[in-house]
Amino acid sequence: MKCYNHPEADAVALCRNCGKALCMNCAVDVSNRMACKDKCESKVKALTEILDRGKKTSKNALYLSKANMYTIFSASFLGAGIISIIVSGQNEGFILLLIGLISIIATASYIRKHSLK
Ligand SMILES: [Zn+2]
Ligand SMILES: [Zn+2]
Repeated sequence: MKCYNHPEADAVALCRNCGKALCMNCAVDVSNRMACKDKCESKVKALTEILDRGKKTSKNALYLSKANMYTIFSASFLGAGIISIIVSGQNEGFILLLIGLISIIATASYIRKHSLK
């Protein structure tokens, strides 16, 4: 395949925006996406920004739903433990309470690790 602008030069890449074949001199790398130098460069740059933002947002949404799930999980163990201690005074309550506490510590460290990034 030859370059769209230079019929004598071999193409090394395809533009992400218009799909034209590009030689070394015409292609420009925009965060690992190839684009026509000067012509499609800004369009591919804008596209890359939108894609990256989308990726970041979905990552945060996943993190939030996970953090919520962990919190509900630990809270329900804690709640069940407290209730069974109060109601029946049995030792199983302490085990539930312990699982709840461990889950809360794990959740807290998960949230802290994520927010440090
Ligand atoms: Zn192009
Ligand atoms: Zn060229």
